[in-house]
Amino acid sequence: MISRVKGTQDFLDLTLYDFIIDQARSHLAVYNFSHVETPIIEHLELFQRSLGEHTDVVSKEMFVIEPKGEASEVKPGEKICLRPEATASVARAFAENGVQTTPWKVFTYGPMFRYERPQKGRYRQFHQLSIEVIGSNSIAQDAQFIKMLDRFFHEKLKLNNYALLLNFIGCAQDRKAYVEKLQGFLNSPAAAQICGQCLVRKEHNVLRIFDCKTSLCQEIYKNAPLIADNMCEQCTSEWKQLQEQLSLLSVSYAYKPTLVRGLDYYNKTVFEFSSENLGAQNAFCGGGRYDQLVGQIGGREDQPSIGAAMGIERIMLLLEQNLDKLRIPQKPALQVIMPFAKEQQMLALLLADELHAAGITVETLLEGDSIKSMMKKANKLGAAHAIMLGEDEQQNRTVTVKNMITGEQVIIAQTELVGYLKK
Ligand code: AMP
Repeated sequence: MISRVKGTQDFLDLTLYDFIIDQARSHLAVYNFSHVETPIIEHLELFQRSLGEHTDVVSKEMFVIEPKGEASEVKPGEKICLRPEATASVARAFAENGVQTTPWKVFTYGPMFRYERPQKGRYRQFHQLSIEVIGSNSIAQDAQFIKMLDRFFHEKLKLNNYALLLNFIGCAQDRKAYVEKLQGFLNSPAAAQICGQCLVRKEHNVLRIFDCKTSLCQEIYKNAPLIADNMCEQCTSEWKQLQEQLSLLSVSYAYKPTLVRGLDYYNKTVFEFSSENLGAQNAFCGGGRYDQLVGQIGGREDQPSIGAAMGIERIMLLLEQNLDKLRIPQKPALQVIMPFAKEQQMLALLLADELHAAGITVETLLEGDSIKSMMKKANKLGAAHAIMLGEDEQQNRTVTVKNMITGEQVIIAQTELVGYLKK
């Protein structure tokens, strides 16, 4: 047997997935977001320029495709990849299509691809819902955006057991100065014993040192300079405003001074929603501000923006622990039509067609099974009624309808069936 590719999943029951998307659609409509779609394949360069060459995602986890089309179509060195996230794609779509109305408030969802080591909650093909506000400088937008996410998790998905971690990592200039300061600290005797991986991070992706799992490194970093203490006046004031506005909107959060997120394009506000109920991979949504991204990927000018991405698989894991609190829409009642013999199949087809046209959910048992096994099947399918068609029914233009819960049986005219089932 050919098995599925490592790190991918088959979803045979999408009830929870659909529930999350349906709830998100209605929630985001209230906040005036629209749905957009971008391609799953993009130029590798898009992510190299935006996420950053030295991030884990770009340096180790990209699924790159070398096109093998007609020679004339393939530019030398052109590389296409499967998208590892959607923010850069949405920013590209904004710039490429010359969207004029800002803030551009959009969401998109679908598969993302990262060549990671698969484990619970971590896949090579996974699904994200990505929400973006492109073209807004206002820090109040961040407060409203975070409140929107918090309300979604709390009120729409009925999640309670989670934390919102928040940090402010300054503007590009602050970050540049801070990176130098942090590298200075790491070069000092106080940090002589950091691990090999952190030595590499120090050169290429220094803000990520705080994610190191080594306890000695963590001990050393307790004395490292913090970004919040090294920000310009404007960023210091915006950080204060953000905290005040979140309090005004009754959003509970925990300040995590070492939260930086994995991708290079973030600045100022960064946040993560995480839940202990998820185990090691505990973050289910992350985001922040990305003021330079549109400019970085070739837009005419920078567009200050904020966005977030949530991992649908991880939210599904959380909802599975919470099913009793959710109002997941019930499937419509199922009616099962049973022709007792081949001679009744034409009639079964006609009756089923009439019920389908009336919007009634019907399964027609056409495999020529015995009455006993058809009854078993109807039970297994969770049928509301079994509609039996034997010789008598055919001759008398009737049907025998069995209520599968009470066991009660009635004989009614075929012309009355739709009315009877709709009752
Ligand atoms: P990121 O795009 O890395 O900021 O991730 C945003 C969210 O996507 C995370 O909080 C996770 O919930 C989810 N996520 C990221 N990578 C994976 C993965 N490999 N498998 C499943 N979910 C993921």
